[in-house]
Amino acid sequence: MTTTNQSHSHPFGKPVNILKFGEGNRIIVDKEALEKSFLHPDVKNRKIVVFSIIGAFRRGKSFFLDYCLRFLYANYSSIESRKNDPQFNKDWIGLPEEPLKGFTWRSGTKRDTTGIIMWSDIFLHTVKTTGEKIAITIMDTQGLFDNETSPADNSRIFALGTLISSVQVLNLVGIIQEDQLQYLQFATEFAKFAAQDNQGSSGKPFQNLLFLIRDWGNPDEYEFGTEGGAQYLKEVLKIKADQKPELKSVRQFISVSFDEYSCCLMPYPGKHVARKKDYDGQWKLMDEEFKDELVVIIEKLLKPENLILKKINSKDLKGFEVKEYIQSYFTLFQS
Ligand code: GDP
Ligand code: MG
Repeated sequence: MTTTNQSHSHPFGKPVNILKFGEGNRIIVDKEALEKSFLHPDVKNRKIVVFSIIGAFRRGKSFFLDYCLRFLYANYSSIESRKNDPQFNKDWIGLPEEPLKGFTWRSGTKRDTTGIIMWSDIFLHTVKTTGEKIAITIMDTQGLFDNETSPADNSRIFALGTLISSVQVLNLVGIIQEDQLQYLQFATEFAKFAAQDNQGSSGKPFQNLLFLIRDWGNPDEYEFGTEGGAQYLKEVLKIKADQKPELKSVRQFISVSFDEYSCCLMPYPGKHVARKKDYDGQWKLMDEEFKDELVVIIEKLLKPENLILKKINSKDLKGFEVKEYIQSYFTLFQS
């Protein structure tokens, strides 16, 4: 059975598929969509935040992004009717019964197109200290780690998404598994040659990575949120003397490949979110513990002082440069 929410009825923006993975290793880029987004007058010559999420299908990625969209519309939107305080709107989460709209979520068992999807609206923020306006873009990924996407394609999407974003959220359920760490490493095999002269702020190919762990079941050992997450991550990434070489190397790889990495442990969201077929995303029906952590992590990721600009070789990229960068990667990743 397939259920789909009313994603297309979002009052302002819509999802735009900028990249699809076709048959026979083909990457199909929607050049027009890419230009529309990155060469938009609000974006073209502005520094830019590229916020992205990745991970297996049907694990709440789009759902999470749709709550991120609420924060973005409430705080950085040019749509005046949605905006109270231009710097920080504490009521961003909206009304308790408001159905969740945005990127399509809860698409049942039907396979989504594999690819990268951007939100059509771009958000603007004026940096307090400099008065400069920066642009914020948000991206979703679809179809990864399902039974039909090949390991090679998973790695390519993973690498591509991580290279083009300034913040990558890796969405996982339960625990960090060894195979997911391996994917991170495979991804750099593709990224390595491309990243030689395209490096982040500290000479590393990738910028920020957040491990977002869903349905965390061990709050007595590591508490929910980013502090418990930091301790858990430290334990997972510890290099031990008796570890197999490949387990050691993946751990070393993470520390040399990302500018920063962190982890957030999320509670189980409750039966409505996790199981109910007719659930429409309203936060009234979330377990309170989950809703509280959701608010905390979204504010942490997206509040003005924590926005991370896309950089290469310590230089902030502008919208048009990000577009060129993405296109050059597409070409590389074709082979
Ligand atoms: P995506 O394929 O990763 O983008 O997943 P979706 O955002 O479409 O969500 C898939 C299903 O997971 C929906 O029915 C959501 O209600 C549910 N969901 C969202 N967040 C969570 C979570 O943290 N835990 C659990 N167990 N389910 C969630
Ligand atoms: Mg999705």
